[in-house]
Amino acid sequence: MGDLGRIPADLPTGLWIDNAVTPATGGATFEVRNPSTGELLTAVADAGADDALKALDSAAAAQAAWAATSPRERSVILRTAWEAILDRTDDFTTLMALEMGKTVTEARGEVTYGAEFLRWFSEEAVRIQGRYAASPSGNGRILVSKVPVGPVLAITPWNFPLAMGTRKIAPALAAGCTVISKPAEDTPLTMLLLARVLADAGLPAGVLSVLPALDAAAVTGPLLADTRLRKVTFTGSTRVGKLLIEQSAQNVLKTSMELGGNAPFIVFDDADLDAAVDGAIVAKMRNAGQTCVCANRIYVANAVREEFTTRLTARIEALQVGPAIQADVQIGPLVNAKQCDRVAGLVADAVDDGARVRTGGHAIDGPGTFFAPTVLDDVAAGSRILREEIFGPVAVVVGFDTEDEVVAAANDTDYGLAAYLYTQSVDRAFRVSERLESGMVGVNRALVSDVAAPFGGVKQSGLGREGGTEGIEEYLETKYLAFT
Ligand code: ADP
Repeated sequence: MGDLGRIPADLPTGLWIDNAVTPATGGATFEVRNPSTGELLTAVADAGADDALKALDSAAAAQAAWAATSPRERSVILRTAWEAILDRTDDFTTLMALEMGKTVTEARGEVTYGAEFLRWFSEEAVRIQGRYAASPSGNGRILVSKVPVGPVLAITPWNFPLAMGTRKIAPALAAGCTVISKPAEDTPLTMLLLARVLADAGLPAGVLSVLPALDAAAVTGPLLADTRLRKVTFTGSTRVGKLLIEQSAQNVLKTSMELGGNAPFIVFDDADLDAAVDGAIVAKMRNAGQTCVCANRIYVANAVREEFTTRLTARIEALQVGPAIQADVQIGPLVNAKQCDRVAGLVADAVDDGARVRTGGHAIDGPGTFFAPTVLDDVAAGSRILREEIFGPVAVVVGFDTEDEVVAAANDTDYGLAAYLYTQSVDRAFRVSERLESGMVGVNRALVSDVAAPFGGVKQSGLGREGGTEGIEEYLETKYLAFT
């Protein structure tokens, strides 16, 4: 089913509440545009505070019955939806290419990856386990069970419109929680189609609502202030994550935070350079550099730096830039003009500090919000581009001499999400991985995301883990029953 390049006819463009398309109170809408062309794709309903509370009424009303469904029932719905998403690969690919600017190849990859969370958590739903123990004193029995935390608010970013949603929604539903989804304002369409697919798969009314909104805080503020909400899960900037943690303190909400990154990508002098260059392209240029695990700082041993940078530059110059929906394109646009301006500012500052532009270095004239794939070398140690998340197709190369020096530089950041290292020494791989302050380390491997692995960060990169056997725990409370 589906027609690549055409918006699916059954795409909901209203709010999704009680398994129905609903206009926003007052009829407000906002525009969704294609960043490859600037063209209007469609308008969607713009939720406000009243709509948020309507969705929460619906989620709170559905919570007890959903929690009481059998794990197998929840599992079957998730698995059915997994198959339905794969059946509609072209539709989801189209929406992500059009609303986000993700290339067709990568959007197809995200459909597989995003859908996989539904399959994985359909399998986890039936494996939620507690424990039984005898009290050491001999006069009691300890029963520990797991119960759903309750209604969840899931706030997601635009860079993975499907997968960032399913990574939260699937474990929450598997655990027996109802969910209110607030997708990013740049990319609400993918989430709206996902809601329809889940309803068609048998998800009862009220269990999932979707609230697109131009003013995120107008929707999330009233929800976080309402004691019926029990949990907030967020992926986005560290700045907004901190605001949400503050607001969550009010009602002592359980929180999961997937925040920014500043990933070091370390190439030692004993690395397989072919593999390291391949890896750097993937870790840096995937999604046009717009992922929180993108290689932000590429540290290369001075002995191999020139060779590595020359090869990397040649590969990056050869990347095909263009409208995301075109089949051969490898680098699409940045999601909006604001992001393009931000990346341009970071590059300009780095150049002012003495960086050398090996290729690119500038935005590309419109239509569309494109930034030329870029390589910067000789970047000064204090440069802003080494401290801030770039979120664009800009590879920043920095030389180093010793292992101690590069580990210290890699850890010299408030972030700690992903890190990568390339070496052929097993000793060094273990030694350095253990010293890196990050939630995830890719060893001779540039793709760390895996549904079966715990994704998440340390330091200001976040709280909690998504995916793996850990992912469902974020939506469960521990309940202890004391028996004589
Ligand atoms: P990015 O910089 O990647 O857009 P943001 O953290 O700004 O990251 O956005 C991620 C998500 O958080 C989006 O859904 C956005 O609408 C939402 N968001 C932005 N600001 C707020 C806020 N003040 N309160 C709640 N959600 C917000």
